[in-house]
Amino acid sequence: MIHVTKTYLPPLEEYNNYLKKAWNKKWITNRGELVLELESRLKKHLGISNILATSNGTVPLQIALKLLGKGGEIITTPFSYIATSAAIVWEHCTPVFVDIHPEYLCIDETQIEAAITSKTTTILATHVFGNPCNVEVIKKIAKKHNLYVIYDAAHCFDVMYKGQSIFNYGDISTCSFHATKLFHTGEGGALFCKDTALAQKAFYSHNFGHKDLLSFHGLGINGKMSELQAAMGLAVLPYMEKIISSRKQVVNYYDTHLDFSNLKKIKIRKNTQWNYSYYPVIFDSEKTLLNVEKVLNTAGIFPRRYFYPSLNTLPFLKGGKMSISEKISKTILCLPLYADLELCDIRNIVTLINNEIC
Ligand SMILES: *Cc1c(COP(=O)(O)O)cnc(C)c1O
Repeated sequence: MIHVTKTYLPPLEEYNNYLKKAWNKKWITNRGELVLELESRLKKHLGISNILATSNGTVPLQIALKLLGKGGEIITTPFSYIATSAAIVWEHCTPVFVDIHPEYLCIDETQIEAAITSKTTTILATHVFGNPCNVEVIKKIAKKHNLYVIYDAAHCFDVMYKGQSIFNYGDISTCSFHATKLFHTGEGGALFCKDTALAQKAFYSHNFGHKDLLSFHGLGINGKMSELQAAMGLAVLPYMEKIISSRKQVVNYYDTHLDFSNLKKIKIRKNTQWNYSYYPVIFDSEKTLLNVEKVLNTAGIFPRRYFYPSLNTLPFLKGGKMSISEKISKTILCLPLYADLELCDIRNIVTLINNEIC
């Protein structure tokens, strides 16, 4: 069976070598040697100044919203994974949806200002499929209206924009290291923040608010990454270049062989060094998508409908009509994309799709 992705598993021996360090110290969580080593390697790898490794990619969103959202209205995108909006509601903030750009699939920055009210505190946007939002314009809007910017950069490992890591943009950026993501620690994630004072607050927030063993800076939660997770990250990290270049070959094959007369693909923003994290295609109708999905499923191929439904349509999220996001959600399908996807399988996927849409 071929799924939308396949978790990259490093050689077991290399993973074990890291685990041995934890065994020897009998230290498996609370920011041990391995979490510290992973953070320091990621800083170098990504060229960033602050990183906080976390237990998953959702808790850093919650921490960011707790620190910056302050119970207000959060301008956000309806086209993302559920975690983006759910974190807003979970933190007792109110999501205010703004529709997406039809080609970039990120929040349409030209519609943000119209959604700002006196209760707005923050803009929380997703760099969908690793495609950067219009970070310059969003920064200007935020500055003008005195708002914070949080980026859900869950899909963005190794994405560079204008020569630097996309994690450098926004007041806080977050990433997911879930097993289905490009770089992973099984479960895991990270928070990035250039402002050292804010990074410090995020740090204590992710560790119950502890100042030291007996005193507290303030309210916190448990968002710590464990040594077992960090061991996986350390074992996977050396393979990232290989993983990405192998994915690039799959993407190139799709790009050159799929029949784009009846199919659209995402437009990657200029000045982006993309990470080949997903291969979304947009069909002319949901009917075509369902037909293609059925044909692929019958052949043992399981693409995924990222992201369906449009988040504004969920009853517990209550957004107004978002025409573009709703249309894209119904017609977009992510094709299988992972490091060692076999050429014969890619060929088969392309043939099945092209036959169905001609
Ligand atoms: C995967 C994902 C998350 C959640 O990350 P977890 O590590 O699974 O908690 C959040 N936002 C987006 C856009 C995602 O794709």
